[in-house]
Amino acid sequence: MLPVIALVGRPNVGKSTLFNRLTRSRDALVADFPGLTRDRKYGTASFEQRQFIVIDTGGISGDEVGIDAAMAEQSLLAIDEADVVLFLVDARDGVTSPDIGIANHLRKQQKPCYLVVNKVDGLDGDSESADFYTLGLGGLIQIAASHGRGVSKLIDAVLSPL
Ligand code: GDP
Ligand code: MG
Repeated sequence: MLPVIALVGRPNVGKSTLFNRLTRSRDALVADFPGLTRDRKYGTASFEQRQFIVIDTGGISGDEVGIDAAMAEQSLLAIDEADVVLFLVDARDGVTSPDIGIANHLRKQQKPCYLVVNKVDGLDGDSESADFYTLGLGGLIQIAASHGRGVSKLIDAVLSPL
């Protein structure tokens, strides 16, 4: 069985951008419109001779009604299916209330989880990231999914214990 990595987080934090970078596909819809990816989406990725499965999700907005509720449900299912969860947040937005809700859910799971601070391009990642330690998930990894910064380091860290 290949390791399964789920990408979760609220809409627009860059999950599909990271998915596309890992799977090198344009399959997940990347858009400036929050929440365009409605369903879970699976892709295979290979990194330094290791293969794994990535699950992209529509996102959890913390304000779930109608279509948003379905998206949140997909995210919860993806977390169940995964060996490890990458919880993405947006360095430019800081900690938002949906982030706190997702962190609370993840803390209750018996599942390895990495807090990934995305969009650190052009920022001083360390000062922008400091706030995210308040989510209580331990260490964090900074990346810029659209530029590739930090992505190899992230995947290395995620795959090595698996
Ligand atoms: P999703 O809703 O979490 O899947 O987010 P998307 O992958 O669709 O990305 C949302 C927006 O953030 C798009 O406009 C992306 O181009 C942008 N984005 C994603 N990653 C980065 C990044 O590393 N840096 C910057 N500046 N923008 C990014
Ligand atoms: Mg998406």
